[in-house]
Amino acid sequence: MKLNTKTLLFFSVLMGALVMLLIAISLYSFKQFSMYTAERHARSVAETIKVALTESMVNGTISNRPQFLSRLKDVPGVQNVKVVRSDAVVSQFGPGITGERAIDGAENQVLKQGKASFRVTEHHGETVFRAIIPYIASHQGTPNCLQCHNVINDAVLGAVSIDVPMTEVRQQAMIATAMVSLSVFVAAVLTLLLMRKQIRPLVETASAIQEVVNQAVRGGFSGRVKQQTRDEVGEIAASINHLMEFLDECLGTVGRRVGELMGHQPQNTGNQLVATTEMVESLVEVSQFKQAIEEDQNKLDVYQRLSRLLAEKYDFQLFSIYEVASSKNRMTPIVVNGEINAPCHWCDQQILIDATHCRVRRTGHEVNAVEFPSLCTMFRDSGEGEKRTHICLPITQSGAVGCVVQLVFPVEQGQLANLMIPYIAVYLRETAPVLEGKRLMEHLRESSLRDAMTGLYNRRFLEEYVTTLVSTSQRRGSPFSILMLDLDYFKQVNDTFGHEAGDKVLKTLSEILVKSVRGSDMVVRYGGEEFLIVLLDTAAEQAVNVAEKIRAKVEETKVSLPGTVLQKTISIGVAEFPSDTDTFWQVVKFADVALYEAKTQGRNRVLRFAPEMWKEPEQY
Ligand code: GH3
Ligand code: MG
Ligand code: MG
Repeated sequence: MKLNTKTLLFFSVLMGALVMLLIAISLYSFKQFSMYTAERHARSVAETIKVALTESMVNGTISNRPQFLSRLKDVPGVQNVKVVRSDAVVSQFGPGITGERAIDGAENQVLKQGKASFRVTEHHGETVFRAIIPYIASHQGTPNCLQCHNVINDAVLGAVSIDVPMTEVRQQAMIATAMVSLSVFVAAVLTLLLMRKQIRPLVETASAIQEVVNQAVRGGFSGRVKQQTRDEVGEIAASINHLMEFLDECLGTVGRRVGELMGHQPQNTGNQLVATTEMVESLVEVSQFKQAIEEDQNKLDVYQRLSRLLAEKYDFQLFSIYEVASSKNRMTPIVVNGEINAPCHWCDQQILIDATHCRVRRTGHEVNAVEFPSLCTMFRDSGEGEKRTHICLPITQSGAVGCVVQLVFPVEQGQLANLMIPYIAVYLRETAPVLEGKRLMEHLRESSLRDAMTGLYNRRFLEEYVTTLVSTSQRRGSPFSILMLDLDYFKQVNDTFGHEAGDKVLKTLSEILVKSVRGSDMVVRYGGEEFLIVLLDTAAEQAVNVAEKIRAKVEETKVSLPGTVLQKTISIGVAEFPSDTDTFWQVVKFADVALYEAKTQGRNRVLRFAPEMWKEPEQY
């Protein structure tokens, strides 16, 4: 129930009760007053009659009393007068004239008890106050009763029954009561109206505040309360307005600022507060995500974290992340359907060899097939089950597209996916510099560990790799072999055909070496024209075979130089870890000893290290 109605109802009931109470009190008072007046009046008349009758007795005119009593009926305020004799008087003076005997119970009771009786009766529609007042014998006064009556003092001599008309008095009382009630009623109504006028600003302000607060709870802070008065109620309205202005301004600023950070404004869901809170939460999550990927060890960790984000937070089951090679115009799928290093699935394979076929890679802009279904022609729906569509987003690094994130989902989920894009884009924007940094670091590290001319690992790489190599071999109980290789009479090439020719021979040899071993083996440019190969999980016997294969291949390889064709041979020494020695650098040394022995024995050969080859260390 509204305050206004409640207050009005409360005061109406209060006023109604007051009016009723007042009417009841008035009626009761009038009744009491009327009865009292009538009683006094009746007692006066009774006393007058007593005096008159006593005088008549003394003067001997008592026989005229019927006329006297009859004339009393004409006295205003007296309707009927009747005198009754007690038994004592009857026995002394006889029954008297007609009607002087008690005829009803009330008269008999008064005669018997000597106590006056007063009651109001209705007679023929008229209200009558009937008083029956006894005459008590008294020995006092002159003359006194006992002078004529043979009775004892205080004996009941008789009684007078007087009817006093009350109809008119009653009407007067009713009119007076009605007047009083009307006055009170009018006063109550006026009070109510006045009160209503007084409380109206309070009630209106309260309901306006309620409306404004409700609106604020729904996220709208534009509501204001009309200030109607200059009292405390008006001050409350002003304070609420001030608070709303403050909230509106502050939240607006927070929303705009957060929007700037997020790269998009809060979604207009109608609740500014909820939208801003959600954005702040997203911002915190993005910040935590960024911190996590910054601390990740390498690019792959970052891609995996991004994959988990797409799958777990945004519930995408099908998505790819492509990396664009910075130097070549190629794209490589890093993650496909959430799986690391899975093959390209949702795009035409052409994009892998010519990345310009990828629209996102070419333009640097998002491709949204939900909004523009035929924008990209490279998308390949598997054609199985439900029809799918896609949204592709770039990860821009140093002004170029470094990665492309492809989200694939059923067509009917397009609108839902679209809603998530601004949020995902924020994550991608934050990921970009981290990926760029990691890519740069990996590139720098990679280049510091490789030989620039041949692209093979350098000696520094070997030094860094030794610990891992040895511990892995020991853990798995698997041997590895070292090949030390050195071209025979290479100096002549430089001397005869120049340094460039020598370089070409070295590059050709590098290619032969890489092709001759497995991807997991390591080919290291150990010195100028000395190479070292680590053959993993390989005992010396198989290593000798591999070395022999290399030797033969080098021997048969023809290197074309301007004006001539060159054929070179190579000598190779082989040693095994841990059977020869369980110290890595000692194995290298043994392989080198074997190489030296191969050179000594005439070159173009493979020699496995034998302990007898080891002479005094000073020789080497
Ligand atoms: P041997 O059969 O005893 O090995 O005779 P060799 O002439 O090959 O002698 P050695 O192995 O000592 O030759 C080393 C030569 O390799 C010396 C140097 O001119 C050449 N060399 C080293 N690094 C490079 C390089 O990067 N490019 C070129 N073109 N030549 C290099
Ligand atoms: Mg050499
Ligand atoms: Mg040599």
